[in-house]
Amino acid sequence: MDDEIHQLVTPAPNRDDVVSIRYPLAELDGQLVWARDLAEATERPKGLLCVGCNGPLALRAGKQRRPHFAHRSSVACTGGETALHRTTIRVIAESLVSAIRLGHPYPFELFCRDCDASRQGDLARDRSSVVDANRVLSSAIRPDLLVRGSDGTPHIAIEVVVTHAPEERALAEFDAIGLPVLAIYPTWDALESMREGLLHLSRPSASGVSGASVELLGSCPFERHLSAGDGDLRPCGQCGGPCRVVTVEVSEAPCWSARCSRSVRVLDVYARIGGERVLVAAGANDLIGVEQIAQEVGVKVMHRTSKMAGAAYLMNMCDCGAPTGDNFAYGRFGTEPYAPSLADPARRYEVCLNGHWQLKRIRPWHPSTRAGRSQQAKGLIGDPARMFDDSAADPLVTDTRFATPSEAARFMAWGVR
Ligand SMILES: [Zn+2]
Ligand SMILES: [Zn+2]
Ligand SMILES: [Zn+2]
Ligand SMILES: [Zn+2]
Repeated sequence: MDDEIHQLVTPAPNRDDVVSIRYPLAELDGQLVWARDLAEATERPKGLLCVGCNGPLALRAGKQRRPHFAHRSSVACTGGETALHRTTIRVIAESLVSAIRLGHPYPFELFCRDCDASRQGDLARDRSSVVDANRVLSSAIRPDLLVRGSDGTPHIAIEVVVTHAPEERALAEFDAIGLPVLAIYPTWDALESMREGLLHLSRPSASGVSGASVELLGSCPFERHLSAGDGDLRPCGQCGGPCRVVTVEVSEAPCWSARCSRSVRVLDVYARIGGERVLVAAGANDLIGVEQIAQEVGVKVMHRTSKMAGAAYLMNMCDCGAPTGDNFAYGRFGTEPYAPSLADPARRYEVCLNGHWQLKRIRPWHPSTRAGRSQQAKGLIGDPARMFDDSAADPLVTDTRFATPSEAARFMAWGVR
């Protein structure tokens, strides 16, 4: 397999003494063979070659340790990082092609850090898909592996990262053509597990595979994802005023009232502000017209007066009549375990300073999605959301008694109980 892109970069000096690498696999007559398979079959074939330096290897298998291949002591193996890169690509490609052919799954998990969301998939699901190595997609992108559907459409790219991450320019292009990239950070120890899929690598906490991981780069498949461009202001189609992309979701938690056992739906509006995806409190004063959106998604919000704050503001209401949960106090300010309702589709809008909401897309969540709720919010008391510009960014309630927005939010949430 062609490796020239990666060889343009001088490999960093090997951290480990390569002589001591315990190779889980070796080459035999041009095929990859696994130490575990040979040990289980009690085979000791001759002619085992190193995938790093092409020198002779010996099988080491005993009761005490995991079967592996190793050089005889004094050989200086020139393998290392380049070999790990090349071999990982080969292992994934061979395993995936074989899974597709045999009708077996090759599971993986997409986890987006930005979105705090993940879902499982199966790279071998489409029985007629094709796996290409080093296919040129554009001048900037030529992924290590590309999985394409039977009609030729690229589904997902795989980049094996050993010494350097994919370039920003390449990632921007992957994003532009809507292609997710699985960046695989391999170790020799983790290679054997990749014969069955990439699922265990995606869950570092649950894996016994040291050091290896998978990261989602390129285009994110979650509807709640807000890319860098989604953080830019654009002119509103109706009034020409500043306008931006937001996503709207529903979260649920038990009602505040001790006498009520209902689950309450609250409105989660997300925007990318200052380079970060943040939860914008439904009561933020620059979210004009948000009551209408709340009604459309089955969330009850009302203007109610807080005696403590001496102000009326938008509150989430339970059907029992009690104001509840996050009013514009979001995240950690409450102790309620709010969780995104994945039964409700995620929606994308463009919203302007003057309250023109335009629905761009509405999509159900993939059934296997798991998603968290942001603990960071803007548009709280004394903390303007800065959705559009400074003129609209006055805090909803200004009260100098409060040292911090969280102090104010706690106080006001208390006040309306
Ligand atoms: Zn070697
Ligand atoms: Zn995402
Ligand atoms: Zn407008
Ligand atoms: Zn209630």
